[in-house]
Amino acid sequence: MGFGLIRQGFAWPLPAYDCRMLGPIDLHTHSSVSDGTETPGELVAAAIAAGLGAVALTDHDSTAGWDDAFRAAAGTGITIVPGMELSTRLGWRSVHLLSYLFDPADPGIIAETGRIRAARLRRAESIVDRIAVDYDLTWDDVLAQTTIGATVGRPHIADALVARGLAFDRSAAFAGILHPRTGYFEPHYAPDPLDAVRLVVAAGGVPVLAHPATRGRDDIVPEDRLRMLVDAGLFGLEVGHRENTESGKARLRELAQKFGLRITGSSDYHGEGKPNRLGENTTEPEGLEAIADAATGSSPFTG
Ligand code: AMP
Ligand code: FE
Ligand code: FE
Ligand code: ZN
Repeated sequence: MGFGLIRQGFAWPLPAYDCRMLGPIDLHTHSSVSDGTETPGELVAAAIAAGLGAVALTDHDSTAGWDDAFRAAAGTGITIVPGMELSTRLGWRSVHLLSYLFDPADPGIIAETGRIRAARLRRAESIVDRIAVDYDLTWDDVLAQTTIGATVGRPHIADALVARGLAFDRSAAFAGILHPRTGYFEPHYAPDPLDAVRLVVAAGGVPVLAHPATRGRDDIVPEDRLRMLVDAGLFGLEVGHRENTESGKARLRELAQKFGLRITGSSDYHGEGKPNRLGENTTEPEGLEAIADAATGSSPFTG
């Protein structure tokens, strides 16, 4: 679908399109529609304050923040890239799939994200049930940390633990009570990455593997699997991410070269929920332009 809306800001005739005029591009952020601490509108304001030219809203398994983000961007000149971070699972491994510019009304997307959000809710309740055996924590404590309809995750349980004085902050909660070794952890239903890539592509979207090397170069999705994802339409790899290891990033660059994949970089901003700052990793303008050109489901919106 291309960059039609973004181009509108420039006088005709257009020079060879130059997105560098936009400012830095950050393609991975979370609002309170999932586990970020700011509303989509607050997040857009923070992105403007950080000097970003374009920001993607990629809440976990939900598009519910898109309209608020568009409204907040109106008249400001910032570009919103509507997206989502889809939860998928390969065996025991949680694999996150950034998905850009798909059709949010696509029935397949609506059905699958609804299924994942419902499974997340049941799983969070079950985790809290088991924590509550040992600690003074209730499900209502967790609900108090979420907004209505939000995609619920462990970060909300972490916030409830903090509110109860059982952890200093989210990071401490993840390192302590929420750490898988404590035994309270359990996974939730999530589709296979291959089905997820197919779903996003069928909805006109552009899928990019999120932070694929957070556990190091030897724990990246196996190459035969990656080839299947590429054949199904995987578009890129998020190389620039603070949690990818350095040797992992080098390996991802090799894999991108080998499979003809685009490279992106992003902050994975969660407001105050994580130390990640907006724009700490960015994507080249040509990368965003390629994503917009490949998408048929929706367009970037320039306010
Ligand atoms: P869940 O999807 O419910 O399993 O929770 C995983 C989410 O928790 C990820 O999306 C991260 O944003 C967040 N998360 C993981 N580790 C940490 C941490 N150490 N501090 C804050 N948030 C974290
Ligand atoms: Fe998150
Ligand atoms: Fe993620
Ligand atoms: Zn994320």
